[in-house]
Amino acid sequence: MDIKKLREIFEDNYEELKYETGRSITLNMKEFAWQQVKLYYEKLGNVAKNMTEAEVKLILPEQLTPKGKKYTIEGIVDIVENEDKITMYDIKTHNSEEVQNDKDLYKGQLNVYAHMWKNLKGTEIDNMAVIATSPPSGLRQATSIGDEIAIDIIDDWNPIVELDIDNNEVEKQIRYFGETVDKIEAGEFKAPPLSKLKAVKKGQKAPFGTAVCRHCDARYSCNSYNQYINKVKLDEEILEEVDSEDMVEQDEWKDAFMK
Ligand code: SF4
Repeated sequence: MDIKKLREIFEDNYEELKYETGRSITLNMKEFAWQQVKLYYEKLGNVAKNMTEAEVKLILPEQLTPKGKKYTIEGIVDIVENEDKITMYDIKTHNSEEVQNDKDLYKGQLNVYAHMWKNLKGTEIDNMAVIATSPPSGLRQATSIGDEIAIDIIDDWNPIVELDIDNNEVEKQIRYFGETVDKIEAGEFKAPPLSKLKAVKKGQKAPFGTAVCRHCDARYSCNSYNQYINKVKLDEEILEEVDSEDMVEQDEWKDAFMK
């Protein structure tokens, strides 16, 4: 498929989602999303073409929290089956460096998905990985300059982060989900203070407010994030790293609240 056709599909999908959700995004954000789709296709076109089952919905109903509340776990994964091996992929709009530095955060979730797959299909997952579609800043800048430059450096980018299969993770993660449900039900979900959003975790370049909050669906109603994005003075050394991403985010924020 050529890029022109891919763009047409992207536009059709965008219109459909806009219609379904009643929400649109700024032009900046839309171009950022297109960039991820295009790079994903250029880098991982083969994985996409070999997908045996795409967007498989996994459900684990009738779970009980420690306080006895019922809840359901759901997840969506992609599956590639070849040479008797089954590989499960979870596509995330995070960047691979973040995922690599925080593997434990993803390992539990994907092991629960592998468990759900086994319940559903009766087969074991042999390999699993996160596909982190957000390109690193160097690649993003190169892509915005021109497609040819990006082709030169696209080879260095590895968006696939493999994770270990570990059955011990399943029970631990399900308990953690249950505890979280109990906290939500009890109204205990206070956002962390601004200082945490400004802090840069070991091994990461961007602070929590950019690396994590930017992907959080609750950010528009979060006071800490409101303070963070609406011009907290960030420290000089991290400002350069987060600036372009946060400008896009500020744009979206203004669009959502200042009309
Ligand atoms: S935006 Fe989300 S992740 Fe960030 S502090 Fe608020 S609730 Fe937590």
